[in-house]
Amino acid sequence: MKQNPYIEKLVRDEVRALSAYHVPDPGDAIKLDAMENPYQFPPQLVEQWLAVLKTADLNRYPDPSAKALKQQLRSAMNIPANMELLLGNGSDEIIQMIIMALAKPGAVVMAPEPTFVMYRMIATFCNVAYAGVPLNDDFSLDMPDMCTAITEHAPAVIFLAWPNNPTGNLFAESDVIEIIEKAPGLVVVDEAYTSFAEVSFMDRLEQYDNLVVMRTVSKSGLAGLRLGYLAGSDAWLNEFDKVRMPYNINVLTQLSAKFALEHVDVLDAQAAKLREARSELMQALDSIGGVTAFDSAANFILFRINYADDVFACLKQHNVLIKNLNPAGGALANCLRVTVSTPEENKAFLYALRACIE
Ligand code: PMP
Repeated sequence: MKQNPYIEKLVRDEVRALSAYHVPDPGDAIKLDAMENPYQFPPQLVEQWLAVLKTADLNRYPDPSAKALKQQLRSAMNIPANMELLLGNGSDEIIQMIIMALAKPGAVVMAPEPTFVMYRMIATFCNVAYAGVPLNDDFSLDMPDMCTAITEHAPAVIFLAWPNNPTGNLFAESDVIEIIEKAPGLVVVDEAYTSFAEVSFMDRLEQYDNLVVMRTVSKSGLAGLRLGYLAGSDAWLNEFDKVRMPYNINVLTQLSAKFALEHVDVLDAQAAKLREARSELMQALDSIGGVTAFDSAANFILFRINYADDVFACLKQHNVLIKNLNPAGGALANCLRVTVSTPEENKAFLYALRACIE
């Protein structure tokens, strides 16, 4: 790359020090690295969806408040009637809106670690300090350390991914409640994987003034649409809405997501199949010597294996792309993460894994 003297002078040091969120090119590999749902809509629904898309007014800006889509989300996702909804271009964008709105001088963003990396990255983008509190060895919350850190940093916001990514476990509900009750600031329960966990903090929103619940449609079959949503009181959401870009949910996403959520039973049935496949995959991993698989309430399984880098590279040679977490080190040393997929793809992965460790 050609040196450019402006860069060093003008770009913030912490931005220059970052590496961009890396998304590997899967080529024609079996793609088990990004927690996507492998199933598509049945052909008959695809036809109906295309008919809906024909009605899109591409010459007009989208409805800035996405009223029709929000209404559909409310009924499909059982959002409490007295709570508001805020939509994001993926839940990534919602994390960004929350942190931007709370980025007062001296504010701290907190999360247990390892967890979803965007909490830390977006805090850095927004010039806000980030405090990561290590999880216990079994990936449960280290409550004494969490409580000490809460007292020490008085975080403006704590993110709790429930279930957690990349570990897959659900933190004890009582621990999450204790954190909400001890926190001096906002707690975001990130329920990205709720379809696979079948538990939620949604009905506790009313009980806690400092709680909001964030979700995404990405993991339940609509990753291509980029749609996340935040449920919470109007007091919080009115503020976050001020930092939202006016037309952040495009026309095609609004129409497509509304259509898909009118057929949420199809998505639910796919999630049920994936939950079943998860237990089968877990059993299969448990039966392979040298593999330690961690319990998962999500649509992926984290496992530890010797020579993880080599196994990862070998799987790639067998045309199976999963996620290598070994480079993150610490609790994730020698850990790999595989997305639960169709029985055929899971079988292909297991076949390749066995071949790689023989
Ligand atoms: N939260 C968690 C815990 C995640 O794992 C992810 C995606 N990996 C997201 C949020 C972001 O999801 P999206 O931006 O696709 O809605």
